[in-house]
Amino acid sequence: MKAFEKKVYLSSPTMHGDELRYIKEAYESNWMSTVGKNIDEAERLISEKIGCKYAVALSSGTAALHLAIKLAQVRPGDRVFCSDMTFDATVNPVVYEGGVPVFIDTEYDTWNMDPVALEKAFQLYPETKAVVLANLYGTPGKIDDILQVCQKYGAAVIEDAAESLGATYKGRQTGSFGIFNAISFNGNKIITGSSGGMLLTDNIEAANKARKWSTQSRENAPWYQHEELGYNYRMSNVIAGVVRGQLPYLEKHITQKKAIYERYKEGFKNLPVCMNPYDENISEPNFWLSCLIINETAMCRQVRSDSEACYIQEPGKSCPTEILETLAKYNAEGRPIWKPMHMQPIYRMNPFVTREGDGRGRTNAYIEGNRVDVGADIFNRGLCLPSDNKMTEKEQDKVIEIVKSCFE
Ligand SMILES: *Cc1c(COP(=O)(O)O)cnc(C)c1O
Repeated sequence: MKAFEKKVYLSSPTMHGDELRYIKEAYESNWMSTVGKNIDEAERLISEKIGCKYAVALSSGTAALHLAIKLAQVRPGDRVFCSDMTFDATVNPVVYEGGVPVFIDTEYDTWNMDPVALEKAFQLYPETKAVVLANLYGTPGKIDDILQVCQKYGAAVIEDAAESLGATYKGRQTGSFGIFNAISFNGNKIITGSSGGMLLTDNIEAANKARKWSTQSRENAPWYQHEELGYNYRMSNVIAGVVRGQLPYLEKHITQKKAIYERYKEGFKNLPVCMNPYDENISEPNFWLSCLIINETAMCRQVRSDSEACYIQEPGKSCPTEILETLAKYNAEGRPIWKPMHMQPIYRMNPFVTREGDGRGRTNAYIEGNRVDVGADIFNRGLCLPSDNKMTEKEQDKVIEIVKSCFE
């Protein structure tokens, strides 16, 4: 097999032309700052699409999460329950405010926060007032179960829908389940502004506060007057032009990504692997990234340090490291599963609550064959496949062949 001449990406921006028109409009009308029609329109279109009353356009999804944490009134020393298998931008804003992320283990059905582990976390730390919930790779988690637990303990839910824009749970859009929600228009997401994000909420006071904080907290006065700490977090009208141009193509991207997922699923049906799972009766993911997980019995030996990985080849078996290295050899980009937060050196001292462990220490660390630490297990056996919506069927078939060759 020959390598791909043109690199096959994990997920890269897909432009359609309208973006340039809106950028040009901003330029020609000289609305080249953080005010303008593109921002207004992008906010209106998103709040309509998601079904949230207010959308505040910001410089990034991380900025949206930071303002959400502030709105939830997280104070120094407060514990906040967070998804564990996610990108670190989900949890860093808790620390910006001096909060302490407590990581909640993952379940196998959707690869998201385990509601059973969450319930346990509330028994251990009942005073906790905020939960940050991510929808990994565009798949909604067990949202109702989680909302129920949070309601029981009176905790606010912040939904991180950065990866799941356009995905639905029981017919409702993700990014609408928290009292404060974040989405992202980063370059690798399902649609992009090149960068940018939004805070979504039904609460008008919260929306107004976020708007004010994001523009340096200027008070209504003839001079620069400040009563509160401010941030430079507002979205640029140029970026908003890109977002505005992309929005009509969200559903198209989802259809393309779903076709990729289905084609992988079919292509791998005789291999000892499964695709990243979801509950077909309840949710419709946006299929942002297609992933696979190798059956335990088909794993060859693999060891990972903090920066390197090593494996021993074995006939009929493989591991994420072998598959990723082989894909790279052929000029295709995969990625390991997001390394769980509780395994990150920066967060290794934070509490991590699993379904079965005691929730206090690290005595429940991952032991091979023992599914006590679900996040570590999925990290060990899973990987993200090339999921670019511009990948042709022929290219994808070749990716499938490459993966198959690893199990020979
Ligand atoms: C991308 C991402 C973010 C951050 O969004 P930015 O716009 O890049 O700041 C937050 N959470 C998750 C889960 C993400 O994937």
